[in-house]
Amino acid sequence: MNQEPVDQRVASAWHEAGHAVMALYLGGWIDAGGVEIDERQNCSCTFVAGLDALASERVTVLSCLAGWRSEHLWHEGEILDAHLGDDARALSAMRETRPEATEGELMQRYADYVKQCDTILRKPEVWDAVEHIAEKLIECGRLSMADVVEAIGDDAALIRPRGPFGIVLPYRSEG
Ligand SMILES: [Zn+2]
Repeated sequence: MNQEPVDQRVASAWHEAGHAVMALYLGGWIDAGGVEIDERQNCSCTFVAGLDALASERVTVLSCLAGWRSEHLWHEGEILDAHLGDDARALSAMRETRPEATEGELMQRYADYVKQCDTILRKPEVWDAVEHIAEKLIECGRLSMADVVEAIGDDAALIRPRGPFGIVLPYRSEG
């Protein structure tokens, strides 16, 4: 917990680290765009093709939420506007899967995803990984998939016990 005014670059590091670790946790990988906090404040990740609609919704929503949830779990304070785009993507993925859902149902589903996201981020090996990546981002500004795996170190295999099809996926990078 940090009561000091939040340094935006540091907050971005925790935010992007959350996206990156959740992508790996869900069987995705960091693609050629890398994870970056200076120019674009972006985590460019890819998931395997061929997921069914619900699995695809889950990876999209959880990886979108992981940015601001990670930021929040880190400083427990107010989140700035940077996560609004992530939320819009999460909500549009949910609307696409259930076009007939009411706003109330969507909000309930969104709240359930926030809980799921926090449960995953609070796993000790996952949070350690977020911490390692955030530190490395603060130091370097930009990381590739290989840098991310190196920063996580021995926990890299732990945070990805299963891919979306229930199988252990190898780490791979695109491009
Ligand atoms: Zn984000």
